[in-house]
Amino acid sequence: MNLKSRPPVSFSRNVELIVDRALSHLELRSDLHEQIKACNVVVQVQFPVKLDDGEYQVFKGWRAVHSDHRLPVKGGIRYASHVNQDEVEALAALMTYKCAIVDVPYGGSKGGLLIDPRKYSVGELERITRRFALELIERDLISSGGNVPAPDMGTGGREMSWIADEYKRLRPNDINHLACVTGKPVTSGGIRGRVEATGRGVQYVLREFFRHPQDAKLAGLAGTLEGKTVVIQGLGNVGYHAAKFLSEEDGAKIVCVIERDGAITNEDGLPVDAVREHLTKHNGVEGFSGGDYDPNGASYLEYECDILIPAAMEAQITSENAGRIQAHLIVEAANGPTTFGGDEQLKTAGTVVLPDALVNAGGVVVSYFEWIKNLSHIRFGRMQRRLDEMRGTQVVRALEVMTGEKVPEDIYSELTTGADELALVRSGLDDTMRLAYQEVSEVFHSSEGIDDLRTAAYVASIQKIARAYMEMGV
Ligand code: NAD
Repeated sequence: MNLKSRPPVSFSRNVELIVDRALSHLELRSDLHEQIKACNVVVQVQFPVKLDDGEYQVFKGWRAVHSDHRLPVKGGIRYASHVNQDEVEALAALMTYKCAIVDVPYGGSKGGLLIDPRKYSVGELERITRRFALELIERDLISSGGNVPAPDMGTGGREMSWIADEYKRLRPNDINHLACVTGKPVTSGGIRGRVEATGRGVQYVLREFFRHPQDAKLAGLAGTLEGKTVVIQGLGNVGYHAAKFLSEEDGAKIVCVIERDGAITNEDGLPVDAVREHLTKHNGVEGFSGGDYDPNGASYLEYECDILIPAAMEAQITSENAGRIQAHLIVEAANGPTTFGGDEQLKTAGTVVLPDALVNAGGVVVSYFEWIKNLSHIRFGRMQRRLDEMRGTQVVRALEVMTGEKVPEDIYSELTTGADELALVRSGLDDTMRLAYQEVSEVFHSSEGIDDLRTAAYVASIQKIARAYMEMGV
């Protein structure tokens, strides 16, 4: 049977195949293999909610805990009309590996609600979210020290606020109640830089990739991001921020945006903010005046470019289309955008893939910062910002006294501005993404038989998880 005629493999099986491939490069006890791969808990809930027309509708949702070798466990809650138990389990597993790759001390979890949020009023969504939260809180599947959700596809700060409020109502004595969920609006205990975090992380990983010329060379690329052509699928939270930062700050050219209703192209580069505005207003990219529209969006994954960034959903690059992909580098901003079969084909073709568990970890990294902020009950920078400014002013004064010259305005301003919360968050995220990339690249170059960055990332991750289990006596 050739690859093309095989039946589709489930999302969780795809993750398992990737993990098995990494495990084959490690000498671990086989019972540890099983423990690492197993999804420890999965709960399905069903509950009725009264809609605006007075009728009741029953909703179905899941929360899976893949691994609790570290606590709390962490993972987003997604609202989508295709969510199922297998998907939630696969995404929970990805969270475990992701947190280990970026050294965030969490286990992996994920939640999903089977709903198309665009079909409900804000009032209905609030009632549905609060009831879903109640079902999970009652079962200890949301708590500040045990299981901390975050936004994912179809959810955002608004939903996280409702969940936090519901938790506070049910657990009024938990002094850390704000830490029960991350991705909250800043005014409700969130942290600056969380909304942009996953896209920012994509940018930081890509910058680090180009700081490793020997890695860039594997993809036939050289130099920096300046002038590189980029195709991006999905201009939602992750895709929009990644595209915006890469084009505005690094000089990359977004030559194609693929959305649900089709693709738009422009060889001179698309204005990302204008496309996003059009998308929000018209629920699609059709009619955008700054590019050529084609309703056959998926075929643009095969468009000629330097970098392809799938940032929409899972299973977009499969054994069916992988052979036609022209990008030299694939940067997986979405979770699970490449199936195992697709990945094997890309490997054969020599296409370099920066894997999801590394690339999109920026969200959980900044969620970790938010959680720490909530537990410490103080904004980052509050204690030392003015002190930093005072020290900077003293350095400037000393320089001026010693040289007899005035320090130029722009340098004066840089030296005397203390870091605020956003600057600290970006610095912490940049540092984390760089170190994670360096570790993956190091494993890739130093391990015999590992010939792709995904396997290298999973080897680095699994080593840490296995060590944690062994130290616990498992
Ligand atoms: P989102 O809902 O904000 O955006 C998804 C975008 O993709 C939307 O614009 C949607 O219209 C588009 N889209 C959906 N199906 C598509 C298709 N078939 N073809 C083209 N476009 C399509 O979601 P998001 O939060 O940006 O998440 C995107 C991906 O990134 C998901 O896989 C998610 O699990 C992953 N992720 C998100 C975060 C986060 O912080 N939001 C963190 C890590 C990983």
